[in-house]
Amino acid sequence: MARVLTPRAEDFPRWFQDLIAKAKLADNGPVRGTMVIRPAGYAIWERMQAEMDARIKVTGAENAYFPLFIPESYLKREAQHVEGFSPELAVVTHGGGKQLAEPVVVRPTSETVIGEFMAKWIDSYRDLPLLLNQWANVVRWELRPRIFLRTSEFLWQEGHTAHVDEADARAYARRILHEVYEDFMVNVLGIPVLVGRKTNRERFAGATSTYTLEGMMGDGKALQLGTSHELGQNFAKAFEMTFTSAAGSVEHAWTTSWGTTTRMIGGMIMVHGDDNGLRVPPRLAPVQAHIMVVKAGDGVTEAAAKLRDALRDAGVRVALDDRTDTPFGRRAVDAELKGYPVRVEVGPRDLAAGNAVVVRRTNGSKTPVPVADVVASVLAALEADQQALYDEALALRESRTTTVATLDEAIEAAATGWARVPWSAVGEQGELTANGKGVTVRCLVRADGSVPDSADEPDLVAILARAY
Ligand code: AMP
Repeated sequence: MARVLTPRAEDFPRWFQDLIAKAKLADNGPVRGTMVIRPAGYAIWERMQAEMDARIKVTGAENAYFPLFIPESYLKREAQHVEGFSPELAVVTHGGGKQLAEPVVVRPTSETVIGEFMAKWIDSYRDLPLLLNQWANVVRWELRPRIFLRTSEFLWQEGHTAHVDEADARAYARRILHEVYEDFMVNVLGIPVLVGRKTNRERFAGATSTYTLEGMMGDGKALQLGTSHELGQNFAKAFEMTFTSAAGSVEHAWTTSWGTTTRMIGGMIMVHGDDNGLRVPPRLAPVQAHIMVVKAGDGVTEAAAKLRDALRDAGVRVALDDRTDTPFGRRAVDAELKGYPVRVEVGPRDLAAGNAVVVRRTNGSKTPVPVADVVASVLAALEADQQALYDEALALRESRTTTVATLDEAIEAAATGWARVPWSAVGEQGELTANGKGVTVRCLVRADGSVPDSADEPDLVAILARAY
């Protein structure tokens, strides 16, 4: 078969760009750093939204919507926050043909405007916890944009919550981290994420703790796939978010925020894609079974339509490709590029023998299956291949993770993968040294793999890597 994509081993970033173009997922927008998400890409995002939204709602959060424009003065109320975000802000100075009295920023994130309104809505401890989420676009003027991974405008969900005390805020930030983000990434995206704590240097601007989920991409680099923050009382103080406690005293609330973005699409591509294209994990896939009419005639199209109905009745997300005016070979290459987990090829010759061919995208196997057994065969393949993709990603991560004792060894190991090194051997000074060499501390974990409450706990392990 003619080569369709630049092979991953030859040039991984180029392969990523090629795949996004050829699988028709997205295009670069006319303004640098922006993107046009095409239907094939947007369908994946909609599946991510559906799976995430259901999990978010289980934790008790409700969806709401806040404005795109935020008064510049709001951002300035939290010193760290404005310092962190200033370089990335898009600022609107004119509207309706006139200079604005006060510039407004296009939201880079919504802690400030949501803080302002939460302050109005909260009076008593009975109003807490207040658990909100919004699905929206945000703008961060990125200097080195990369499609899906780091765009100047991206789509995301941002959660914002207020609590009576630090313990409740911490428990909730971690519930999102594990029960929403980790569960979704592991069980739907099929990505074995490493969950940990950011160093103080890498913490979100205005947060007291930032928790992160890091995935290893197919080239051994890391990608931060989501973050959950404890904001302490920083934003509550900046926006006078107070409540009357059960004991009658007036207290500042404790807040959290947490976000995941269209970056996850890029992560999914870079973890599971291969030299023939995308491999979409079955639980995520907008189309799980792609039925292809090889050649029309002899009742083939009718048999294919029947299979589509039977699969749909069995709860499989299914599509039928009967575009027999396009050569089958070209359609098959396209199906590989798009990464449908299972293909069911229905052609006159196999059908005459009572069979259809089940093709699994994950391992490339092609098996003739009696028509009556196709549904069972597809269901089994979807189940097995969800696990197979996860196992493959985990095996790669394990084979490319090295445990070392010193900073120098860790920087060396980060050339090809991840390094696990005692945090005490790195420290904040070592973190700067590593940064100078293009290596970052992705996160800190405890020796047992659990997430630390502070960067100062003894015996922490640091994960160092190059990152997207
Ligand atoms: P933050 O609000 O900074 O914690 O960002 C939340 C999440 O958004 C991060 O964990 C990243 O996964 C993701 N993210 C940050 N910047 C971008 C960007 N420019 N494009 C896409 N995703 C981003």
